[in-house]
Amino acid sequence: MVSAPAAASFTGSADPDCDLLVLGGGPGGYSAAFRAADLGLKVILVERYAQLGGVCLNVGCIPSKTLLHVAAVMDEVSRLAALGIDFGAPTVSIDKLRAHKEKVITKLTGGLAAMAKVRKVTVLRGYGAFVGANHVQVEETTGSAQEKTGKTQTIAFKKCIIAAGSQAVRLPCLPDDPRVVDSTGALALQEVPKRMLILGGGIIGLEMGTVYSALGARLDVVEMQDGLMPGADRDLVRVWQKLNAPRFDNIMLKTKTVAARATPEGIEVTFAPAEEGGTCPAPQTYDLVLQAVGRTPNGKKIAADKAGVAVTERGLIPVDIQMRTNMPHIFAIGDIVGQPMLAHKAVHEGHVAAEVIAGELQGNKELSSTAFNARVIPSVAYTDPEVAWVGLTEDQARAQGVKVNKGLFPWAASGRAIANGRDEGFTKLLFDEATHRIVGGGIVGTHAGDMIGEIALAIEMGADAVDIGKTIHPHPTLGESIGMAAEMAHGSCTDLPPGRR
Ligand SMILES: Cc1cc2nc3c(=O)[nH]c(=O)nc-3n(C[C@H](O)[C@H](O)[C@H](O)COP(=O)(O)OP(=O)(O)OC[C@H]3O[C@@H](n4cnc5c(N)ncnc54)[C@H](O)[C@@H]3O)c2cc1C
Repeated sequence: MVSAPAAASFTGSADPDCDLLVLGGGPGGYSAAFRAADLGLKVILVERYAQLGGVCLNVGCIPSKTLLHVAAVMDEVSRLAALGIDFGAPTVSIDKLRAHKEKVITKLTGGLAAMAKVRKVTVLRGYGAFVGANHVQVEETTGSAQEKTGKTQTIAFKKCIIAAGSQAVRLPCLPDDPRVVDSTGALALQEVPKRMLILGGGIIGLEMGTVYSALGARLDVVEMQDGLMPGADRDLVRVWQKLNAPRFDNIMLKTKTVAARATPEGIEVTFAPAEEGGTCPAPQTYDLVLQAVGRTPNGKKIAADKAGVAVTERGLIPVDIQMRTNMPHIFAIGDIVGQPMLAHKAVHEGHVAAEVIAGELQGNKELSSTAFNARVIPSVAYTDPEVAWVGLTEDQARAQGVKVNKGLFPWAASGRAIANGRDEGFTKLLFDEATHRIVGGGIVGTHAGDMIGEIALAIEMGADAVDIGKTIHPHPTLGESIGMAAEMAHGSCTDLPPGRR
């Protein structure tokens, strides 16, 4: 239980007022603001940076995928040498690559600004903090960062959506040094290190490692747990790990980082076993250390207590399934309400909050009864190969005692995967033995992330193996592996020898 603070009462005068104030212009915030405006509300969107889009567009999903695309093409091209098409060793212009990444960001964030204008959403540039239960004070900011101009204004709102996101966790044992970066620093792409340490074997660290490795860096990774990419089934991760082993000098599992110091040669990092009796390597020196040990929600940075909004010790804002905080007129969405910290979750939560609010202000019962009731939220590691999963994993099914019937289709039997020269992957589907409905699935292979949505849809629709297997998938595609995995579960697959289940 989080105790609710008493709201402060604001007695000053407010400048503009609005039906809805959205605090934070990331994917959660702008989606909520746009949906609310489309439903007829007067909306003010407060964002401290010059560009909308939040972490996702500026320093997250989009720049990382831009660079990962380049990395994947570089790797693909180098593989062609074995097929008789040799382009030779690449020359890398880091400045041009950085400029390309910036161009992609500018195109997308510029599009958001235009869409806000068309919808008549007022975007206020500044740092917002609550001063009462119905008021936010905005300190104007300028420049490319968050320099304050000294001007403030106070906005009165009927309803508010908090979408202030999260920030990277900083390990206290690491020195303040330009060679120690978080994902934002890594995406700034200053130079390519010879030796790079990734602290934390989760998706963000491994994606950035993939980029730097393609550009020429040797990688080490250190992870407290006993496997990389926690959350995904081990059989999926094993395929990624086998193909990616050449990128790494050391994969240090069940190991923690206990000290680090800046030296002229690099950052010298000391490790210790995470468990008693374990072993770990001697201190190592790196040109670049990437901290990717998680993100912490920004709930403690917006004076939420002044509005009476409860925030946990970790900065998380608890909400109900309508995204409502303990204060009935204030909602929260996205990373600030917790895991999974993913853009597609933030967007859906934003739509829910906007619809509930519009429904309440306009007396529309259908809208006001909207709730976040998605059964599943897909996860994707955009590594090479990609690893994607949704719904129950096999590990979770085992832990929860859910008996599942598994359909697994190896890409070694997929015409398209073989034609692409990338047949290392597989697609698996899990069906509840009792109901026969699909409850989960995972894909490892190129473009897995583009295909996982079909499995999410099947789960949402309550499909069974016959529904999926009898849906005609185009041939030859990687996507048909989903239909074939369903046929494997059903026993009707003709693309593998009979009896292989
Ligand atoms: C390197 C990296 C890669 C990622 N890749 C993916 C991916 O591939 N797919 C995926 O789904 N997710 C990915 N994520 C996660 C994704 O970026 C986040 O889940 C998503 O951005 C969360 O959206 P949000 O709207 O909740 O918050 P944010 O995007 O964090 O936006 C919050 C906004 O609020 C603003 N703000 C905060 N406080 C204030 C204040 N007091 N006043 C004014 N403005 C304020 C911030 O400036 C920011 O613009 C990635 C994250 C990182 C770091």
